[in-house]
Amino acid sequence: MSGTVFSQLDKSLREHLATLVHLASTGDDETAADLARSEMPRVVAAVKALLDEHTPDEHGRCRTCRTRWWSRRLPAPCRAYLTTQLCLTTFDDDPTDTRTHLHRVS
Ligand SMILES: [Zn+2]
Repeated sequence: MSGTVFSQLDKSLREHLATLVHLASTGDDETAADLARSEMPRVVAAVKALLDEHTPDEHGRCRTCRTRWWSRRLPAPCRAYLTTQLCLTTFDDDPTDTRTHLHRVS
């Protein structure tokens, strides 16, 4: 029962994110602007909450992911933190295009 609920939650979350990406990339400028104003803060809040949860401690380890038996070999910071950071700071498509969008004055 709970598995079904969780998989439904996961599915709707992923569909929501896919919709955001789709609208951002295919929508007209007005749609994209509306989307940025209404959804960006929520997405940023979600990412910040995730990062807060996985912030490395003074030893560079994640309190959330640390477990008794693998804490000593756990790479620091944890995978969730690293992956989030990489996704947000690495431009894997076209960096020129991203900069153009960021700096474009409309
Ligand atoms: Zn973690």
